[in-house]
Amino acid sequence: MPDATPKPPCPSCRATHVVRNGHNQSGTPTFLCRGCGRRFVADPQAGPVPADKEALVRRLLGERLSLRAIARTAQVSRSWLQGFVNRLFRDDSRWQPEPPRPRRLKKSGTS
Ligand SMILES: [Zn+2]
Repeated sequence: MPDATPKPPCPSCRATHVVRNGHNQSGTPTFLCRGCGRRFVADPQAGPVPADKEALVRRLLGERLSLRAIARTAQVSRSWLQGFVNRLFRDDSRWQPEPPRPRRLKKSGTS
């Protein structure tokens, strides 16, 4: 039985040794590259978020809106927005515990 659709080459390494790999969440057939292991679809509908949309998201973040409101307004996915915010505010310094505060002694009842 011949394939219903021809297998596209791998977008990463251009290898043609590609196998079918089921479907993604929206039901589009996915392929798996045997060369580099990348999973991909034939013609992706959504590309990376463009730079001007990223700039809009940065401005909206300054307005103290909720992340959901920003995702709705800028029409980006909530998962992309959360990853973007995490990248933006990542603090690579190691966490150092503060020394414990001196404990205040409780007053004894009768004296
Ligand atoms: Zn590949």
